[in-house]
Amino acid sequence: MTTIVRKMSGLLIDLDGTIYHGSKRIEHADKLIADLRTGGLAYKYVTNNSSATPEDVADRLKAMGIEAYADDVCTSAQAAATYIAEKLPGASVFVIGEKGLREAVVRAGLTITEDNPDYVLQGIDREFNYSRLAKAVRYILDGASYVMTNPDLLLPTENGLQPGAGSIGASLTAAGGKQPVVIGKPSAILMNYSLNRLGRTAADTWVIGDNMATDIAAGHASGCGTILVLTGLTRSDNYEYYAEIACCKPDVICTRLDELRSYISTYRGI
Ligand SMILES: [Mg+2]
Repeated sequence: MTTIVRKMSGLLIDLDGTIYHGSKRIEHADKLIADLRTGGLAYKYVTNNSSATPEDVADRLKAMGIEAYADDVCTSAQAAATYIAEKLPGASVFVIGEKGLREAVVRAGLTITEDNPDYVLQGIDREFNYSRLAKAVRYILDGASYVMTNPDLLLPTENGLQPGAGSIGASLTAAGGKQPVVIGKPSAILMNYSLNRLGRTAADTWVIGDNMATDIAAGHASGCGTILVLTGLTRSDNYEYYAEIACCKPDVICTRLDELRSYISTYRGI
């Protein structure tokens, strides 16, 4: 039997639960990224979080001692704004979201509007209220297209689990009667946007993350290789449970990031 060995010329790396927990760097993350930079292995960070700008994310990584640039970061906000700009250049957009989403919309050449938009674009918004919900639903009922940055229902935070973009989206969907186009993981839209930015094809790129239902499922949806790290959500004692929910399995499992470093180093010879 012939074993097909997949090339490794690029990596798409999750952040929360893979590189850091909140403001705390995960052990060996700095050495992992230093290895990639030294070895010249192309990578992008891929995050479902739409609230922070790529500059904010790079600053957070730098504060943890990890060399980082805004261009290293692909957010669901950037992928969502690019998706809309490709469908309808210069579209008007009603935004439910935070700074990262608003900036991405403007940078994509779209117009933020409070009235009669072509698109309702919704992410996490910690100032979300009934008046914003009522406007969004009105526009969706009037025929605006509805795009959601990411489907996460809950977010792990330093104060425990809190509602994510998907929970806000559930209220828009219930009242507006329209399912959104979902951009973030497990959707292939964010992955294809990130592959484009990386300048690599799915066939020689690997996705690394801690979440079976988002990272590993998105890797499968986009045709990339997949490496699960047990540094965040998934642990050896809940792996089977999450594998069943995600309906997929990773190509490789690494318990810690030093194990991942060795794997990449052996695989690529860096
Ligand atoms: Mg994660």
